[in-house]
Amino acid sequence: MDIIRTEGIEKFYHLGAETVRAVRGIDLLIQKEEFVAVMGPSGSGKSTFMNVLGCLDTPTAGKYWLNGQQVSELTEDDLARVRNREIGFVFQTFNLLPRVSCLHNVELPLIYAGVPAKERRERAAEKLELVGLGDRMDHKPPEISGGQRQRVAIARALVNEPALLLADEPTGNLDSATSVEVMDIFTTLNRQGQTIVLVTHESDIAEYAKRQVHLRDGVIERDFLNEPTGVA
Ligand code: ADP
Ligand code: ADP
Repeated sequence: MDIIRTEGIEKFYHLGAETVRAVRGIDLLIQKEEFVAVMGPSGSGKSTFMNVLGCLDTPTAGKYWLNGQQVSELTEDDLARVRNREIGFVFQTFNLLPRVSCLHNVELPLIYAGVPAKERRERAAEKLELVGLGDRMDHKPPEISGGQRQRVAIARALVNEPALLLADEPTGNLDSATSVEVMDIFTTLNRQGQTIVLVTHESDIAEYAKRQVHLRDGVIERDFLNEPTGVA
């Protein structure tokens, strides 16, 4: 089944008399359980396209179906629900609340979804254990390392069991050893069946995905499968 289907997605920005054609017609199909890296140089349209896929921005033209629902037909309330329940977001800058515990940070999407307190704590703790942070739940983000913070953000992104995990330059603020740890978590999650779309401009990060979609000047330039690594 497709998780993502786009047809002719365009996004133009008007800056005074000038029009910036950030995305110029993207047709893309991503199936359940895929792990796709969206690659491309700075300015190629990755963030713009990502914002459309994440239902954070509306395209100028084109159609987008997320998990079978046509996004343009959804109301603002439906969109907020889709962003909360169907998509887990991971950002370069973690976006954690610094003054509350890791456990509370991971619980936040469940508060929004109306899940009762006891179940929230259990589900948040389970995801923190999954990313190897069972012993850091009561710490606050400033008390843990950058790699650990990104793992908290991944736990938060997973806590609503989203159909799609969408990560925008998730290793952009991490050193290379820590980046490997974070990418290993994505690899494990994908092996467990999690659909992942990752935006990156780094080719060694894109190698962790099973498929690479390269953008240039707002269109898909190449779309190919990575060689299997052969690692068990
Ligand atoms: P990437 O993420 O690959 O660096 P972007 O999607 O950020 O690419 O940008 C694609 C093009 O669109 C660039 O020329 C950028 O300057 C332009 N752009 C992106 N966002 C905006 C915006 N909000 N207003 C005007 N131009 C924008
Ligand atoms: P990053 O590459 O770190 O994701 P971007 O270059 O995509 O950062 O830009 C960060 C923010 O600024 C985004 O919200 C993007 O839409 C906006 N932006 C990018 N280029 C322009 C531009 N030329 N004019 C206005 N806003 C822009």
